[in-house]
Amino acid sequence: MSTSVIKLLPDNVANQIAAGEVIQRPASVLKELMENAVDAGATHIQVIVKEAGKSLIQVIDNGSGMSAKDAKMCFQRHATSKISHADDLFHLNSKGFRGEALASIASIAHVELKTKTASANLGHQIKIEGGNFFEESSCNQEKGTSFSVKNLFYNVPARRKFLKSNNVESRHINDEFTRIALTHPEVNFTFHVNDQLIYKLTVGNFNQRIVAIFGKSYKEKLVPIEEETDFITLSGYIIKPEFSKKTRGEQFFFANNRFIKHNYFHHAINQAFEDLIPHNSHPSYFIHLTVNPRDIDVNIHPTKTEIKFSDERSIYAIIKTVVQRSLNRHSLAPTLDFERETSFDTPAVNWDKPLKSPEIKVDKNYNPFNTSKETNSDWSKGSSFKVEKTERNASWENLYKNDYDESDQVEDAGINEEEISFESAPTQEKIFEEETSEKGFYKQFKNKYLLTENENGILIINQKRAHERVLFEHFLNLFNEQQTSSQQLLFPETIEFPAKDMSIIEALLPDLTTLGFDISLFGKDAFVVNGLPSDMQKYSAKDLIEDLITQFKQDSNKLKLSQREKLAVSMAKKLAVKYGQKMEQEEVKTLCEQLFLCEQPLTSPTGKPTLISYNLSLIDKQLN
Ligand code: ADP
Ligand code: MG
Repeated sequence: MSTSVIKLLPDNVANQIAAGEVIQRPASVLKELMENAVDAGATHIQVIVKEAGKSLIQVIDNGSGMSAKDAKMCFQRHATSKISHADDLFHLNSKGFRGEALASIASIAHVELKTKTASANLGHQIKIEGGNFFEESSCNQEKGTSFSVKNLFYNVPARRKFLKSNNVESRHINDEFTRIALTHPEVNFTFHVNDQLIYKLTVGNFNQRIVAIFGKSYKEKLVPIEEETDFITLSGYIIKPEFSKKTRGEQFFFANNRFIKHNYFHHAINQAFEDLIPHNSHPSYFIHLTVNPRDIDVNIHPTKTEIKFSDERSIYAIIKTVVQRSLNRHSLAPTLDFERETSFDTPAVNWDKPLKSPEIKVDKNYNPFNTSKETNSDWSKGSSFKVEKTERNASWENLYKNDYDESDQVEDAGINEEEISFESAPTQEKIFEEETSEKGFYKQFKNKYLLTENENGILIINQKRAHERVLFEHFLNLFNEQQTSSQQLLFPETIEFPAKDMSIIEALLPDLTTLGFDISLFGKDAFVVNGLPSDMQKYSAKDLIEDLITQFKQDSNKLKLSQREKLAVSMAKKLAVKYGQKMEQEEVKTLCEQLFLCEQPLTSPTGKPTLISYNLSLIDKQLN
């Protein structure tokens, strides 16, 4: 006779086991209850916590409420109103969908539910302990639902023992509350801990919610980011680099309105901030990522905040570029105007095309610094390049202008780039008109710094670093364009080189050729220079190349850059204006303009700051 040893577990036990996964600590209960309240369409949610949630977690909402039947049903395992078909998983709009949370919570705590729908006359009340129904009755109750969860893990002593100190558990609870409150600025929240009101958050936009939670000082710290591409929309705020923290700080990603953690995307932001904050500090951010629900893997564990996207590499690149651009654009800007109605102050740029660095077109025949013929400054002898305003740059400038020109606000946050450049991008002619008609304030100081102004205040620019940045981007652009002009030397120069350095020349040869050098190797320890880039004719080929190689060798170990980028850095350093070189006003102006057309005007190619700015608001504060 065969006996069976396999038994089905009683529901209670199964739920307790499931609870082990869903409910790790009091904060997990809070998360489930708050998310249910949001899913129920509540506009007011009250949270009450006692003893770090160990003795009480209560969430009261004014959402849909439940019928008497649903009030019982909701504690069943896999009881959910949120999905009915597997396919629904791909268009989820709700926070929950597994129907596991309440069954789990009820199996390991004392739970009291009071709930009422709009159409019912009376509310319904249920008490349940360790998964067993204990009491059921009618009650007086406003429309909505109140769940209170007491004595968590009372029947699972092992788990209760593993709870951390009240301090630690309170921190988790606070984190959970913050994440959900940040995700839903359209909902009013109150948060009481041990009878003390900690937060009273009223409906507002995202930036108002951030400030309501983290404090007024955040008004000055936030820089908006906004971008829309075919498959992802990015919005939210980054904290200005100068306010980055030694501790981890505030780092919030939300994917389709759910808080997530994402190390890879976090890395993208770190990269964007890299040169702007000290090595031991961390950037803070509050960023919403919105994608088609099909592009994220929903089948993740309910308590997990990690999530997988279908094209993480592209998203990484977009995040990094967008954050860099916002940092650049706002470094020279006043702080956000919180009185404004619109939630985001930056007009969005639509990228229909794949990501690509903004172009900088180079007019190879034009050397702006040589135009002032009468000047005797050393600077005019240096190599320099005219960076033309392309359409993209022109509209960038317009975006920038529109951001801060109060009288000329771009109201429509959805405006796209094409529209902007069509309506208001200055034509090339117009740029020249403006350049000649309006002199502006440009001055060199101590033959080292450039002083200028913009609408927001005063800027002090390091001339050498600024020029290095301009040249660096110029050379990178030449690599992309692959159409440089070279001029043959009348007398090709043979240069002898230590054999050990010849390998560097060999490796660099293709890139040097792209830039317009015409070099051929000559034996083991020499090469012949037949031609130089057109705008470098004034240099001695020998000096130029020797200096370049020396510079390249010096930087090579220090920089985490590609070979081309390293070469561009070396060229920029070699050719940039030096400290002590005098510059005329026209030259100062041109360099300032070129700098602001750069992709990353704020740092030199090796990551040092190019400028400091004094905002008018700061000047007013201190001098008015
Ligand atoms: P899920 O949220 O995954 O559906 P839960 O166990 O959290 O599973 O909740 C089960 C069901 O109970 C929900 O689908 C919902 O219909 C109902 N419910 C839970 N909390 C509330 C609430 N605060 N207001 C209205 N209905 C609720
Ligand atoms: Mg739920």
